[in-house]
Amino acid sequence: MSIEKFTQEKVLSVHRWTNTLFSFTMTRPAHFKFTAGQFARIGLQVGDELVVRAYSVVSSPFDEILEFFSVVVPEGKFTSNLQHLKVGDELFLEKISYGYLTLARYQLPLPKDLWLMGTGTGLAPFICMLQDFETWSKYEKINLVYSVRTRDELAYIERIQEIAQTFGEGHSGFKFIPVITREPDAPLHDRLPVLIANGELEKVAGLTFNPETTHVMLCGNPEMVNDTKEALKARGLTMNRRGEGNIAVENYW
Ligand SMILES: Cc1cc2nc3c(=O)[nH]c(=O)nc-3n(C[C@H](O)[C@H](O)[C@H](O)COP(=O)(O)OP(=O)(O)OC[C@H]3O[C@@H](n4cnc5c(N)ncnc54)[C@H](O)[C@@H]3O)c2cc1C
Repeated sequence: MSIEKFTQEKVLSVHRWTNTLFSFTMTRPAHFKFTAGQFARIGLQVGDELVVRAYSVVSSPFDEILEFFSVVVPEGKFTSNLQHLKVGDELFLEKISYGYLTLARYQLPLPKDLWLMGTGTGLAPFICMLQDFETWSKYEKINLVYSVRTRDELAYIERIQEIAQTFGEGHSGFKFIPVITREPDAPLHDRLPVLIANGELEKVAGLTFNPETTHVMLCGNPEMVNDTKEALKARGLTMNRRGEGNIAVENYW
């Protein structure tokens, strides 16, 4: 890993949601440009080694700082160290951003209904997209579906409400739909593929999947991404390739 590809940035804040979920912000160098939905590559010095991992940007492309949302993998080379992050620490940031989970990839169908579906930290790129006025002006309906295992893992709830008020003011088509898979009392507690196959998700959203109008973005756990994709294909939606099609995905591992 060539160190010239990186700049050194300072950690500005750390927020712990649970023992295994936290968010942090850091300085953003002027050259670091990205489109909502893209990811950065962050480096951490572990002994003699620079360990680098991909992280979706949570903050908007217009913010002066960068925000990220991280899991802690107990044996993970990166996050078992990153979890001890403190204000003032230094992190490496690769100079360029990456990724195709952006709204620009949709040419057809034209934008109308947007479903953003994330598991766990897979929420990150969607918080970013919802802080871009263009997202709100392009789509008539936006459903943010956020699947976690337990209620305490529902991070960013207040931020989502604030964002909907600030960016979605006057937009009547936004719905936030939490899914809590290990809590049978939660209004929605099945895995996303099940909720799609049995029609429950559409019922709660008040909107049906339509190959002519629907854009769906899936992000997070690869098993969820794959099974959800298959459930959507069974409903007639297609993978987005070269600008055409309904479904765009990003796997975190
Ligand atoms: C395009 C892209 C964007 C990503 N964005 C984010 C992000 O915004 N936030 C984030 O926390 N991670 C994100 N990741 C995952 C991240 O790059 C690392 O895998 C993660 O930080 C764990 O690193 P590690 O070295 O501790 O463990 P690794 O050795 O990288 O992973 C070990 C195992 O941990 C599990 N795991 C990895 N990532 C996650 C996760 N996010 N949630 C639950 N389990 C996980 C998997 O089972 C994996 O096999 C992204 C990955 C990709 C490819």
